[in-house]
Amino acid sequence: MSMNLITLLYLLASVCFIQALKGLSHPTTSRRGNLFGMLGMTLAVFTTVGLILKLGAQFSVQGATAGLGYVVVGLLVGGTAGSVMAKRVEMTKMPELVAFMHSMIGLAAVFIAIAAVVEPQSLGIVARMADPIPAGNRLELFLGAAIGAITFSGSVIAFGKLSGKYKFRLFQGAPVQFTGQHVLNLLVGLAIVGLGLLFTFTGHIGAFALLVALAFVIGVLIIIPIGGADMPVVVSMLNSYSGWAAAGIGFSLNNSMLIVAGSLVGSSGAILSYIMCKAMNRSFFNVILGGFGAHADAGPAAGSQEQRPVKSGSSDDAAFLLTNADTVIIVPGYGLAVARAQHALMELAEKLTHRGVTVKYAIHPVAGRMPGHMNVLLAEAEVPYEQVFEMEDINAEFGQTDVVLVLGANDVVNPAAKNDPKSPIAGMPILEAFKARTVIVNKRSMASGYAGLDNELFYLDKTMMVFGDAKKVIEDMVKAVD
Ligand code: NDP
Repeated sequence: MSMNLITLLYLLASVCFIQALKGLSHPTTSRRGNLFGMLGMTLAVFTTVGLILKLGAQFSVQGATAGLGYVVVGLLVGGTAGSVMAKRVEMTKMPELVAFMHSMIGLAAVFIAIAAVVEPQSLGIVARMADPIPAGNRLELFLGAAIGAITFSGSVIAFGKLSGKYKFRLFQGAPVQFTGQHVLNLLVGLAIVGLGLLFTFTGHIGAFALLVALAFVIGVLIIIPIGGADMPVVVSMLNSYSGWAAAGIGFSLNNSMLIVAGSLVGSSGAILSYIMCKAMNRSFFNVILGGFGAHADAGPAAGSQEQRPVKSGSSDDAAFLLTNADTVIIVPGYGLAVARAQHALMELAEKLTHRGVTVKYAIHPVAGRMPGHMNVLLAEAEVPYEQVFEMEDINAEFGQTDVVLVLGANDVVNPAAKNDPKSPIAGMPILEAFKARTVIVNKRSMASGYAGLDNELFYLDKTMMVFGDAKKVIEDMVKAVD
């Protein structure tokens, strides 16, 4: 493979990645976007194998062919594990899988940086083993390794927080805060920068080892104070970090593909984090610096709901209200995904539309457990796109709506965000379901949502709770409408 061909194939792969991002920006084109992503990655991987062979032959690098054997084994093991995991994962566990993938990218960046520092000649950074690594490369290795280590340990904590199954305190959704936390973070951050500069200017290996160890520590420190409600930003932020780590390593290895792909992931992740912050009315810097926005005295915690009476009804009652309405807005949330009730919901909506009811779906940007979760869920059930509205486009309509049907959503319709300045979600824009004439809420119990907060919406006079698993309840509503 000639160098020109390698450059051309890398360029083609980069174009595929850009097309992938463009396609993923809308549900109608997302499948095509995914195909472009797969094509780009296949091109990139095979071109890199070609590059390894070429460099091995050109510089007669000892063991280049044996190294290729490791690459093939890595591809087979990693590729198989990735496919099995992606095939098996339930939609609701997707954010954890994403956090796990980010952690792997971070760890890979750390390993490559360590290999490059220990054996720079094997990676073509210097001509002979005895040559010192140029200062420019040392700076890239410092940045790649530090960001990679932060991404790894931060993603492990995010994985634990998102899965919610581990008893370990650091893996709990509630923020972990202690006195002097920000000062400690600042000191560790400054130490990493100091050690990084020492390594850059002197090549001191001990400084490199220590900075990597401290970067693992600060990765944990900056994610633990971030509370449940801010996790969407954390996921997209770690996504961005993983991209920058890869780009940093790309510079050291002089690999244009890694630089381009890493920068695309880094910048798109940063833009997504910004969008999520805006959606939640959080300051971007407060979140990325680690829980600066969290209030220690914030609102009631999980399980502290007051035992107040609520009005409850059956699926039949709900069906009666829905069929007698002119306008209905459906608010899907995480519980709908858990119950896998999207197909039943589609059937219900079709029946209502058939009876002349105007049905719309309202999507909150952080509903569910990953960006775009509800869009994907509704697209799976082939809900017509023209019935699906983003928060800013539909919020003004709630006041003139007969019935709002809240299905497995909680935090995204919690009026505390508007009314209680002390609430951890204060200031987060919500779907203003409370403004509708009648509100029907389906969930299994009075348990809190992800942010662990009680929800005033459930206690309103105009609210009727329909308790039960969303799928069963919606199927019963379909029967009742019939
Ligand atoms: P919530 O997590 O606030 O609430 C979901 C509700 O669904 C729960 O109160 C639960 O109540 C109910 N539920 C669970 N299972 C079922 C079921 N089988 N049938 C019916 N109801 C069920 O969800 P929202 O979508 O309103 O809000 C998302 C939250 O997740 C936000 O706090 C957001 O910040 C956070 N988050 C979002 C991410 C993203 O990128 N979108 C990423 C990480 C976190 P009960 O147990 O009583 O049934």
